Amino acid sequence: MRAFKAVVAGAGLAGATAARLLAEKGIRTLVVEKLRHVAGHCHDYRNEAGITIHTYGPHIFHTTDKAVWEFVQRFSSFRNYQHRVLSYAEGQFFTFPINADTINQAFGLTLPVQETAAFLAEQAAKASVPQPPRNFRDAIVAQVGERLYSLFFEHYTRKQWGRDPSLLSDELASRIPVRANRDDRYFADPYQGIPEHGYTAMVEAMLDHPLISVMLGADWFELKEDLDPDLTVYTGLLDRMFDFRHGRLEYRSLDLVFRTLDMERYQPAAVVNYPNDYDWTRITEFKYFLDEKSPRTTICIEYPKPEGEPFYIVPDQNNTERRARYMEEAARLEATGRWLFIGRLAEYRYYNMDQVISAAMKKLAARC
Ligand code: UDP
Repeated sequence: MRAFKAVVAGAGLAGATAARLLAEKGIRTLVVEKLRHVAGHCHDYRNEAGITIHTYGPHIFHTTDKAVWEFVQRFSSFRNYQHRVLSYAEGQFFTFPINADTINQAFGLTLPVQETAAFLAEQAAKASVPQPPRNFRDAIVAQVGERLYSLFFEHYTRKQWGRDPSLLSDELASRIPVRANRDDRYFADPYQGIPEHGYTAMVEAMLDHPLISVMLGADWFELKEDLDPDLTVYTGLLDRMFDFRHGRLEYRSLDLVFRTLDMERYQPAAVVNYPNDYDWTRITEFKYFLDEKSPRTTICIEYPKPEGEPFYIVPDQNNTERRARYMEEAARLEATGRWLFIGRLAEYRYYNMDQVISAAMKKLAARC
């Protein structure tokens, strides 16, 4: 196994990016992946109805980082796709994230757009939230007031995270913009799209390099004693790497229920959020992403749960403190020059796909 100067544990986006960058530096790299497929949680495939399904729930690529965008373009063409989401509340569909139209609809108003910011400020002032806000609840209420918070965020967040929103980090709120204009896109990033042939094909193309070998269905933890590389890039669970010595980090999971229906169109947007009244948080209709034509359609209903495949880190105080202890250990290993921890699981960060790639680029540039 000395033939490999670098070993990458995990063939998701973090592992594939790291492997590619290493190979392009002339470093022979082995990627070890426990699953029987590459692409980690952005894995996708075409189903019997001719629709591209995201195996682990909806993934929309978006970035403000030109270098990341240029990097992914090397491995796939992208369909220009602007993600739009509706929120189904009180028996109606609302534009979401909140914009000027959402506000008019929710309050039964016809405010001109230039009055939206002042209206929101008034709503927020009525709520009187400590400044600066120190948790998710306060961070949202400070922007939109109590009514919109309870209509769109409070119950969704409780379902998704299984705890009161006041126990979650204020940073979570920065994922969701509040707009005083009529932009109805989920993301305002300049670069957005879906890989035309899927994320799996994109990751396969990243790994397709003469200096990269991929072992599927092999657990790095079982092989590591037999490997002796100069560099190991670890993309698995942060706490597992250190035998859970500071206690277990929490992860949230989802039951993803897929249904293929004999109808052309199920819902009026690619994703509909269900903040209240239902056990699920959202439903995705996949054919929107690549504008796939089929007389049938496939949807995915997401039911959050505490156990199972680790999809989300949990941004609360306990986990943040525990993470800090593990990250100190990771930093000590990284300081030897022989280890890198990259990705959502290994850094225990709520990264988007582009942030994973950017983290891999930065860490590899600093190392090689
Ligand atoms: N959120 C919410 N209502 C919504 C959408 C999101 O309260 O309609 C909150 C919820 O806490 C969620 C977080 O914002 O977990 C981040 O949402 P995002 O859509 O970014 O979640 P992801 O796509 O990563 O599951």
